[in-house]
Formats: sequence, structure tokens, C-alpha cells
Amino acid sequence: MPSETVKLTASFKLDGQLPESLFSTYGEIVNLLLDHAWAEGITSFKKLKAEKYHELRGEYPDLPSHYLYTACQMACSIYKSFRKLKRRGLAKAERPFFKRRVVMLDDHLFSAGLESWEASVATGGGRIRLKLLHGTYHEKFKGMRVGQAWLVKGKDGFYLKAVFSRTVGLPEPDGRAVAVDVNENNAAFGSGNSITSIRTGERAIRTAYFLKRRRLQSAPRLNERPLLAKYRGRERRRINDLYHRIAGKITAEARRVGASAVVLEDLRNLRKKRSSKALNGRLNRWSFRRLQSIVDYKARLAGLSVRYVDARGTSSLCPTCGGRLSPNGYRLVRCPACGLEGDRDAVAVRNLLRRCQMDVGASSVRPESPPHDRRGEGMKVNAGLERLGISFGA
Ligand SMILES: [Zn+2]
Repeated sequence: MPSETVKLTASFKLDGQLPESLFSTYGEIVNLLLDHAWAEGITSFKKLKAEKYHELRGEYPDLPSHYLYTACQMACSIYKSFRKLKRRGLAKAERPFFKRRVVMLDDHLFSAGLESWEASVATGGGRIRLKLLHGTYHEKFKGMRVGQAWLVKGKDGFYLKAVFSRTVGLPEPDGRAVAVDVNENNAAFGSGNSITSIRTGERAIRTAYFLKRRRLQSAPRLNERPLLAKYRGRERRRINDLYHRIAGKITAEARRVGASAVVLEDLRNLRKKRSSKALNGRLNRWSFRRLQSIVDYKARLAGLSVRYVDARGTSSLCPTCGGRLSPNGYRLVRCPACGLEGDRDAVAVRNLLRRCQMDVGASSVRPESPPHDRRGEGMKVNAGLERLGISFGA
């Protein structure tokens, strides 16, 4: 049975303090390494470590040595990203500089126990134990392996961001699948005859927060930014909750009907599909990708394979004969060629299922990956840093 490793990043707020010196010393070291990498044009972790490790070991004898390893990794990936931006003319700075309060950890430098919700971090002054503040969202990481992690000093305290992984067996594709069609205000999914359509109410949430923000911005105030940020955070959390609930229903349905795969739209053609300008403006791509990535990992964790199929024309072509559909009342469509009538969403779902079956039939039986975004899976430093929103010296 083929298997794959599902990787997820968890973010925990830490209950307690970490020494400021850990962040300042680490930042200093990363910048020393960056200077060297930049001056010598070094992009290889091995080379950078070989040239600078002993010198740094001598200068920082109290710091656990693995911090020097992870600092070399950070410096290399920051330098590489900087170089890439520079080549494309996007980096304003002359040379790369690391100013974030972030420390990268490997398995020698920290451990996280989710049974006791406790983390232990190695520092120059010994190990520090800290409670992990957690919610129900963190339960799913229990029983998963923890890999790399980052300590982040935020405005309101310290955070541990850790990459967890689990290896799951994947069923052979047998054509039994649940397809998911996402629109701005509803998500439809199903396996053929039974199609579920959920009104997400996302448009209402977005509109309400949009109006709130506009009111706030039009009223004269000293400083509206903290409030705006608060609203943005709330909106994001509400929509995230919504997406998690939808994704949970989709995997439950896949299990109920004994499907081996979940079929999602390949969003590279999204622009062409939803051509209405108004719709494109309100419904950003982030939204779609976010929901897809949640469905993607939930399905993989549940041992389902995830397949992406071309989304072009899924709501305008007949799933039976391939003819062009005509509108036939509110949310209904009709095929003038073969007489098929149906709900727009059900038609889209059936088209996705049919395309998936055609793909399987065409023996393209390869492990599928999200075509638009592989970041959710990579454990590469770069990807991790990007996910933490760390910019590269630009
Ligand atoms: Zn037809």
C-alpha cells in the first residue's frame, strides 16, 4: 500500500518567559553568518558550517551547539531568498539582514509533550520548561511526530511553532471519490447521486466585517489600527472555523460512502472559471486555497488520497454529454442536447467526479500533490520561514 507523510504546523502560545538573550544572541549569530554567506556567495549549509562553526563555537561557548547548526540553515535560506529577490529587482536592501525575533530549533534543542502540554527548550543556562497553551485545535497533533520548530517572540508573548508529521497509508485509486466544488457562498460535495450543498454564509461574514472596517476608517479617530487588526483577526478566525467545519463534513461523507479519494478543483484556472469581475474582487484566491488546503490535509490524515482536476467549465458543461448548459431558473441548469436538468452545484460536482475517473482511467496513477501550493507539506526551512511570515532582508 502506498503511503505518504502529512505535515502540519502547530502554533502554541507559551505560558512563561524565555530569556531575551536567547533571541538577541541568535539574531547576532544569524547576521554574522549572513554577512559571511553574502560576502563569499555561500548558499550551501555544509560549506557555511564548515567555515564558521569553530569560530562561533569559540565565541559562544555557552550556547548549545545545535543553535549554531540551525543558525547556519537560517542564514543559508535567508541569503538564498535574498539573492533570488535581488535578481528579480525586488530587494531594496544592499545586503541581507535578519531582524525578526525568531529562533529555529531542531530535535536536540526542544521537546514537546502533548500529553502534559509541556515544552522544554535548551538554553545557555540549562533547559527551560514551559506550559503550552492549547485549544481543541491542537488535539489532532497528539500521536504525531514532531520535527523542526521555531520560537517566535510576538508582541504579546512567546510562541512555539512546530511541524508535526504522520505517515498514512493511501488506498489505491478505485474511482470511488467525493468531489468538492467551492463557490463564494456555498460548498457542494458528493459522490454522484447524493450531493450535499452547504450555505457557508461566508459572503455575509465578509460583508459585515467590510462595513465595520469602513465605518471605522471614515470616523475621525486617533488610532484605528489596533481595532482594525482586531476585526481582521476575528474575521479570519470565523472563516477558518467555518472552513474546518466544512472540511470535517467532507471527510465524514467520504468515509460514509467508502470513497478512496477526495477530488478538488485545480485552481490554476480559477480566473478563467469565475470571470465576473465583481465576484473576483470580493472572493479572493486566498479563500479558496485556504479551504482547499484544510480539506487536503484533513482528507490525507483520514487516509484518503487527494486529487486535483481541471476546473474549467465544470459548471457550464453537461456531465453526461459534454454539451453547453443553459440556465434554467435559479441555480438550475439544463442541457439542450440531452435534456439533463439539475442544480448548478450538483452538475459541477458530477463534472469533477467524471474528470477524476477519466484521469484514473488514463492511468495517471501517481501521487497527487496540490498544484498551486506545496508549502503545506515541505519541511524546508524556507517554506517554514515563509509560513511564519518572515521576510528576507528586503
Ligand atoms: Zn447533455
